[in-house]
Amino acid sequence: MNGLYYLPLGGTDEIGMNMYLYGYGPEGNQRWIMVDCGIGFPDEGVAPGIETMTPDPAWIAGQRDKLDAIIITHAHEDHIGAIGTLFDKLKAPIYCTAFPAEIGRRKMEEAGHSPKNIKVTEPNTPVQIGDFEITFFPMTHSVPETSALIIRTPVGTVFHTADFKIDPDPIYGSTMDKEALRKLGEEGVLALVCDSTNVFEPGRAGGEKTIQDSLRKVIAGCKGKVAATTFASNVARLKTLADAATANERAVIVAGRAMSRMIQAGERTGAAAGFSDTITEDQARDLPNENLFYLVTGSQGEGRAAMARIASGTHPVVSLERGDTAIFSSKTIPGNEVEVARIYNKLVERGVEVIDSSMADIHVSGHACRDEIEEMYLLLKPKYAIPMHGEPRHLAEHAESALKWGAAQSFVVTNGEMLHIAANGPRKVDEVHTGRLYRDGDLIVGAQDGVVRDRKRMALNGHIAISVILDDDGQLVVESDVRATGAPKKTGRKGGTFEEQIAQAVDDAIESMPAKKRSDDGALEDMVSQTARRKANRLWGKKPETVVFITRLEDD
Ligand SMILES: [Zn+2]
Ligand SMILES: [Zn+2]
Repeated sequence: MNGLYYLPLGGTDEIGMNMYLYGYGPEGNQRWIMVDCGIGFPDEGVAPGIETMTPDPAWIAGQRDKLDAIIITHAHEDHIGAIGTLFDKLKAPIYCTAFPAEIGRRKMEEAGHSPKNIKVTEPNTPVQIGDFEITFFPMTHSVPETSALIIRTPVGTVFHTADFKIDPDPIYGSTMDKEALRKLGEEGVLALVCDSTNVFEPGRAGGEKTIQDSLRKVIAGCKGKVAATTFASNVARLKTLADAATANERAVIVAGRAMSRMIQAGERTGAAAGFSDTITEDQARDLPNENLFYLVTGSQGEGRAAMARIASGTHPVVSLERGDTAIFSSKTIPGNEVEVARIYNKLVERGVEVIDSSMADIHVSGHACRDEIEEMYLLLKPKYAIPMHGEPRHLAEHAESALKWGAAQSFVVTNGEMLHIAANGPRKVDEVHTGRLYRDGDLIVGAQDGVVRDRKRMALNGHIAISVILDDDGQLVVESDVRATGAPKKTGRKGGTFEEQIAQAVDDAIESMPAKKRSDDGALEDMVSQTARRKANRLWGKKPETVVFITRLEDD
């Protein structure tokens, strides 16, 4: 019998790397659509050297002939960021509206795929994909042109909110059409799959325009140069900042390609047209400091972004000094506090005044707070609640609250769990493999492949390489050679350097080994490695990673 299935592969154990599958058909032989294909940013401590990660789509990639579409709700990296890197594995047409399409085409090109794989859809115009009828429904959020999805199937309708807030008077685009949602609710909504990011925040997120006055006042109080940062994709905020600067007779300079690209995409697609006039960095040279306003990237403390480089005095164009001001029109995402604090401190050390959203009303969230989430339930009256876009604690809180907001049942479904959404009661029917893929330099590796695990062990305990040279009787030809990296040189004990003492221990062990065992490379390697680690532990209190090279010389 045909049924409707929901299976998140990413986005429901974390805030980030969103990837949700919806299936329709007989159990075990459904056809699928993917909603969003995003990246996440792992913690440096968890995955050193890894800047971005994606969900591991192996389960659906292994049956990609059954994947009919990838649907992108909006242009945030946690929703669109992986379309280029994962396209090879998925090879399904990508559907989205004009603004995310503009951003997505570039990602496809960068990954060596044809941008023609992206099909531009119109809001409020249904697209039929297999048994799914999908309508992109305009929502307000912190990037232009965000769409919720009305997913109609033969067994009922799912409303997938994507990321949203309810901004009654947005800067770009129109406000959420509550009347249309009320009608949809009357038609009947089987399940609401809903953003959980701000489920712990009471009240409402607040409209983008509510911070205009406050930003204007803050900038009016600044004396020297001003550099303001926010997410590059928040074109409405960039406009709010630019307008507030212009009102204070400051010329606006956009420093950084990521921001320029977003503004241009907004202009080209019409999703965020009419951005304030800006001047180039060259034109800015002739203006006095009090007439300058820079829009820069790096609100989350990203090491290579403009604000970090300004803070360390290494930005090629923008320099802030005593009397200048840095404005963070943003909220620090949990996990980035240390990096952001480091940049604040560096700026303050330079004599720069730092103003953030804890000191003035210069930021509103892009995600619905409790009252707005509740409003979605009241409008749509879904039978079932399925929280998404959250860590387990967000999902659990949301699932409990949904019952108070009128849902008959709610389900916490986390990455890899398959829910059969049936009118007579959903149930979990399967658990599939999911995980994380890391982008490591130019390559993609599995989080479990051992690359990052080995790197972490080396970072914590150092590494030693041991070269052992034997003749064909299994006797040592020379003393073994040890090279240690990330380990001490001296040990504070008699008997030579750290390397020398390990080499001595290895040679003693080899000589006391029975000749037969010594002729077996595997046994010899294990013994050398164990001896070296044991000796290192005695000298240093740590067991380094080891690699052993065995050379056997032929007698002629
Ligand atoms: Zn998101
Ligand atoms: Zn978003």
